Amino acid sequence: MRILVVGSGGREHALVWKIAQSKLVDKIFCAPGNGGITQQAECIDIKAEDIPRLLEFARKEKIDLTVVGPEIPLSQGIVDEFSNYKLRIFGPSRLAARLEASKVFAKELMAKYKVPTADFEIFDNPDAAFKYIEKIGAPCVVKANGLAAGKGVVVAKTIDEAKQAVSAMMQEKIFGESGNKVIVEECLEGQEASILVFTDSREVIPLASSQDHKRIFDNDKGPNTGGMGAYSPAPIVTKELFDEVLQKIIYRTIDGLAKEGIDYRGVLYAGIMITKEGAKTLEFNVRFGDPETQAIIPRLKSDLLEVILGVTEGKLNNIIKTGGLKWDNRACVCVVCASGGYPGDYEKGKEISGLDEVAKMRDVLVFHAGTKKLSALSCQLSAKYVTSGGRVLGVTGLGNTIKEAIDRTYQAAGKISFQGMHYRRDIGARAL
Ligand code: AMP
Repeated sequence: MRILVVGSGGREHALVWKIAQSKLVDKIFCAPGNGGITQQAECIDIKAEDIPRLLEFARKEKIDLTVVGPEIPLSQGIVDEFSNYKLRIFGPSRLAARLEASKVFAKELMAKYKVPTADFEIFDNPDAAFKYIEKIGAPCVVKANGLAAGKGVVVAKTIDEAKQAVSAMMQEKIFGESGNKVIVEECLEGQEASILVFTDSREVIPLASSQDHKRIFDNDKGPNTGGMGAYSPAPIVTKELFDEVLQKIIYRTIDGLAKEGIDYRGVLYAGIMITKEGAKTLEFNVRFGDPETQAIIPRLKSDLLEVILGVTEGKLNNIIKTGGLKWDNRACVCVVCASGGYPGDYEKGKEISGLDEVAKMRDVLVFHAGTKKLSALSCQLSAKYVTSGGRVLGVTGLGNTIKEAIDRTYQAAGKISFQGMHYRRDIGARAL
């Protein structure tokens, strides 16, 4: 089969790396991909949001299956466009992708179908939001309705902070249209975890549990980022909790969507808070998480492509009949190496050293997120890479215990360097 993977981060590198191991694959393209992805796929210079050109490419190159990584093309309807041309594509339709693209849609669906989540109110007028904030007091959480690159949520410790967030979103329009409506909700307390499942809208196959680290600094200090690391499994997600999340969150959501006339196909990701009253939904994502995917996929023993095809064909029951997904019992840890200055401004083009040495290590993988490969001319012996993004590499290690995985991953990360490189030193420590 000829495969096209859409996206350019560590998540897409992990997907490409895994798909490349399938017997069903003849050739993989990645649009736009990154330096490291060129190890397994031909990268083509088309942006993930450029649906017309992706469509043209898929038709011309006779792509048998397209796998979409990021949320923006999904929310723009890439799946609907490809399906119109009978091109097989993995991911939810535009309507289903509203579960992530519109927090108002997600909250209203959850309220209607009794999916546990924080109590909330929706506002399209700042004054009404201010009044409500005064009524419920702090802490509370303010969320922009639309996509905001993971920055649209403010957990406010004071009433003033909450009001400022509303004002920034609704009046200053820092996220543009995404802030036309805001949600003000109850602040939940507990530990967070991520539950991801494959679904073809009838059947559900869970992926291994995971937990990510969003803040830039150790001990969850500093501003939020796209994610600085992850580990799998998340010991906090016991079998009982997993079942509770499946029953009360995942099935109710997929069934609720079906009742609204929306078939959900793809990966559904529930970010949950484990509260004293049980698991509550913080958010839905309509795609694989990044960096969670980099900690989950190395543990998957089954053929990822077969599962993806099971989803697109509506035949996940065949995978279930043959025993479901097979997982490596070992733990996996992914540490993100970031550019100096990230999540603020950072410089690009810094040469990365140490990758050859890490390539010789057992049970270690390096997924590239923001790298560019230098042209063959400038690389004498082996490939050379320079930085080209904020999150540069996802250094990933497996171990018999989480401790062993952590040690191995940090041993590998210690061999890699580029000017300004920084990473958290406590990824996975929460699980110990
Ligand atoms: P979201 O994009 O909705 O997952 O929000 C991003 C982060 O904000 C989550 O990972 C939580 O750490 C935090 N958060 C979101 N909603 C709440 C809430 N209701 N209570 C406490 N923290 C929250």
